[in-house]
Parts: sequence; structure tokens; C-alpha cells
Amino acid sequence: MKQSLRQMITCHWTAKRIQRYLDADPSAPLTAEEVARLEAHLAECERCTRVTEEHRVLHRALSLWPGAAVPDQRSVERVRSFLDELTDGSRS
Ligand SMILES: [Zn+2]
Repeated sequence: MKQSLRQMITCHWTAKRIQRYLDADPSAPLTAEEVARLEAHLAECERCTRVTEEHRVLHRALSLWPGAAVPDQRSVERVRSFLDELTDGSRS
């Protein structure tokens, strides 16, 4: 079945916030409402769950080996191209 427009928009919205969600960046925190909405979407969207997991793995790897080269460049590229696809290459 074709993905609904509503879900596509929510995927787009989620993709732009996954990084901030995982980083918990104190300079640009998500609101409690945004976190709730993001988590609700992850619960029903396999694709966004997958990209979130990839981000989480990368984030953990990078924090375990500070200053080291990115452990798996292909994973980074995959996540990046996925996000670019969802956001049309635009930056938030
Ligand atoms: Zn999604």
C-alpha cells in the first residue's frame, strides 16, 4: 500500500529531529511534546526506527572512541543519504 502523505510528513519531521533526540543537545533540546511525538512515530514506523538504531550505534561508537576515525564510514553514509532523502537534502 502506498505510504500516506501524513506518514511521509511525519517521517520528514522525525528525520530532522533524530540527531537532536539522540544527542540530547542542551543547546537545542527537543520539547517534551516533540519527544513524545517522535517516540510515538517510532513506535509505528519501522523505517524511522531503523535509522534511529543506526544513529544510536554510530553515536555510541563515536563516544566510545573519541577522536578516532569513524568506525564504519559506510554506515555513516547510509544514514546520511537516508536523512537527505527524507529531507530533500535541506538542513534544518
Ligand atoms: Zn517514519
